Amino acid sequence: MKNIVDNIEVRAREELFININPIQPGGRLTTEAMKAIIAYGDGYSTCDWCKKPFRLDKIQRPPIDEFHTELAKFLGMDQVRVVPGARRGFQAVVNSLVEKGDAVIVSSLAHYTEFLAVEAAGGMVKEVPLNKNNIVTAENTTQKIEEVKKETGALPKLIMIDHFDYMLGNEHDVHGIAKVSKDYNIPFLCNGAYSIGVMPVNGKEIGADFLVGSGHKSFASPAPSGILATTEKWADKVFRTTRMVGDSTKRKFGIKEVEMMGCTLMGANLIAMMASFPTVQERVKHWDEEVKKGNYFAEEFLKIEGNKILSEMPRKHTLTKVDTTESFDKIARTHKRRGFFFSDELKERRIVGEFVGATRAWKLNTYGLTWDQVKYLAQALQDIAKKYGINMT
Ligand SMILES: *Cc1c(COP(=O)(O)O)cnc(C)c1O
Repeated sequence: MKNIVDNIEVRAREELFININPIQPGGRLTTEAMKAIIAYGDGYSTCDWCKKPFRLDKIQRPPIDEFHTELAKFLGMDQVRVVPGARRGFQAVVNSLVEKGDAVIVSSLAHYTEFLAVEAAGGMVKEVPLNKNNIVTAENTTQKIEEVKKETGALPKLIMIDHFDYMLGNEHDVHGIAKVSKDYNIPFLCNGAYSIGVMPVNGKEIGADFLVGSGHKSFASPAPSGILATTEKWADKVFRTTRMVGDSTKRKFGIKEVEMMGCTLMGANLIAMMASFPTVQERVKHWDEEVKKGNYFAEEFLKIEGNKILSEMPRKHTLTKVDTTESFDKIARTHKRRGFFFSDELKERRIVGEFVGATRAWKLNTYGLTWDQVKYLAQALQDIAKKYGINMT
């Protein structure tokens, strides 16, 4: 069977290929999540046993309320809500704290959704420059805050920094930045889109006021899904309940949370997250092994003459940006298929997920590959290099 209906093909990349796509592997579903999607796929399926006070995170069957409690514990935070993607987590926080004209400190490697969250609230982003190793440090964050203070006469309303960024997969000094945020009394949102669900992350230990995660990026969950966690100090503000009263009917909707639009992540997506949770809790304990595989790949990759790694070394994450301008791109310049020659060669070896046609700077992610698959991947790249006369060092 090739098609689900006429023009929708069956997707079997994960079954048929080694997928090195930079954004996909952490969101690959568990078998349990797949079962949950089938069983809870109907629209308002989670509402079967919803009763007073009628809010998603209070539902006991299936145990959605318990999941919220356990998830908060897992992240070392006091309260958590599920949201449709990390971006909706940023949005809820920024919308609650930032007013027109306010400054928000972000990283020079910030994700576009952080920009959009600030833009939607009428704020302005102020980017912390990177140090020479492409890391966002506490020192540079302090300097940026001082600059903003001088320039605008006010302190920024929020600091929003990525734990690991999406461009290089580098680890940034979120612990140090949390201390800076306390010194200035500015709340700190730690963006764990690339960390929560693949490695141990503890918000209290970091000193974050908000922790945001992505279900489909790193939590073995379908899209959209995400996590917003916070401390008791901020919960009342970000999870404030409605106070609106209908002018003629006098209706009120008491317990519904404004930023969550009442109920957030309904149905199959949430139940799939819950179904993946036991696996996620276990897999974060084996992050070291994933990093080891990533570093093994990096070392083998660098044996190909001209290859460079643009991310920090040794790798602390499985997402890595590489540069093959002086190796595979040299071949592409004269090949009749141009950059596509490289994708062709990979595809022939049953490897997909690289940016098709790219032979200069591109990203890959080895998360979740077995040792055999990582070794095969490294070998495949070396074989392609040899085939085109590129030297090994
Ligand atoms: C993927 C990503 C996001 C967006 O996550 P969604 O869950 O898709 O909203 C935000 N920040 C970073 C650093 C990311 O890598």
